[in-house]
Amino acid sequence: MKKHYDTAVIGGGIIGCAIAYELAKNKQKTALFESGAIGKRTTSAAAGMLGAHAECESRDAFFDFAMHGQRLYETAGKELQEAAGIDIRRHNGGMLKLAYSKDDITRLREMDDLPSVTWLSAEEALEREPFASKDILGASLIKDDVHVEPYYVCKAYAKGARRYGAECYEHTHVIEIKRDIEAFCIKTSAGDVYADQVAVASGVWSGQFFAQFGLGQPFFPVKGECLSVWNDEIPLTRTLYHDHCYVVPRKSGRLVIGATMKPGDWCDKPDIGGLEAVIKKAKSMLPAIEHMKIDQFWAGLRPGTKDGKPFIGRHPEDSGLIFAAGHFRNGILLAPATAEMVRNLVLNQEVKTEWKEAFRIDPRRRFRYDPSAERKTN
Ligand SMILES: Cc1cc2nc3c(=O)[nH]c(=O)nc-3n(C[C@H](O)[C@H](O)[C@H](O)COP(=O)(O)OP(=O)(O)OC[C@H]3O[C@@H](n4cnc5c(N)ncnc54)[C@H](O)[C@@H]3O)c2cc1C
Repeated sequence: MKKHYDTAVIGGGIIGCAIAYELAKNKQKTALFESGAIGKRTTSAAAGMLGAHAECESRDAFFDFAMHGQRLYETAGKELQEAAGIDIRRHNGGMLKLAYSKDDITRLREMDDLPSVTWLSAEEALEREPFASKDILGASLIKDDVHVEPYYVCKAYAKGARRYGAECYEHTHVIEIKRDIEAFCIKTSAGDVYADQVAVASGVWSGQFFAQFGLGQPFFPVKGECLSVWNDEIPLTRTLYHDHCYVVPRKSGRLVIGATMKPGDWCDKPDIGGLEAVIKKAKSMLPAIEHMKIDQFWAGLRPGTKDGKPFIGRHPEDSGLIFAAGHFRNGILLAPATAEMVRNLVLNQEVKTEWKEAFRIDPRRRFRYDPSAERKTN
């Protein structure tokens, strides 16, 4: 007999797994298809910062959505621990955004009015993180900055989804989605299955399905290169951040150092020049990394879009087809909020009009992204 699902989710990164979890939890007969292994592409490359304050420049619908995502993480950790028995390794040490020049100070002090941000003099910052560079002129302390380990969040969502009855097919590539009269036929490397609705969550590779359904190709990769080192030498509680670079202290004792921003590069291997650049910047923030032992290095492809915002919503002419892709630098932060929004669309529950509008499936959405003007890193 042909397999038939309420919803088929395409892509087993953090976005697809979070969607499958939410749908299965709400008694939807759900299948998830992943070309490789769950969570091993861009999701695994991420630093895992939940930086709503650090990321959003204007107080718009995107900021509201990001703040909502950050709040959902307050309960997601406990819920996923119960549903899947996996610790998402949440760490809320905060972040210091370092200033080395008058321009840095001017830019950082624009955040002073935000609730969890405090401006610190150099002495105050160094009292908190004595191993940060002595060259700083001050720092913004973002008290509420939290980070998680993305691969574990993704794995927890996938395991939780399975426990609620979802079927997750790894190493199963979706070749094509075909519209039949009453359902979709999903052609996979393991055969055909059918579903009433399809949620495309294939990260930067979602363009194939956009194009197939007449929406063009609005995604492009923005490669980021990172490395991690073992730190058993110095105490570091907070993430250090300056101009395209961060040092994130993980619970395991590792420090994650990243990341480059290379638009248009489809190769997911780091190169020497990229790693050299991030090491140089990290050393300027935390000189003590010089002697730390390298653990791993890697690269990932952020799913870029022209305006830097994801596409989340129904196809304008086929309401059975939902897209949730293009989360660029913020897919980890936005995963729970995206999954909640897709669940509400599938179950015909209310979704904020501003979010529907901001993330609507319209490839002509205003072009505002300019990589050369990029000031942020993750
Ligand atoms: C260096 C770096 C640092 C980052 N740091 C942060 C951070 O600190 N905080 C943050 O919020 N975000 C961060 N990000 C961004 C974040 O990683 C992404 O936005 C997020 O991972 C996107 O998730 P996704 O599920 O859409 O994509 P992916 O994780 O790429 O998952 C998509 C999946 O779809 C699968 N797939 C593709 N095509 C098919 C097909 N035809 N059939 C079946 N499966 C398919 C792929 O194999 C893949 O596993 C960072 C990214 C990078 C590269």
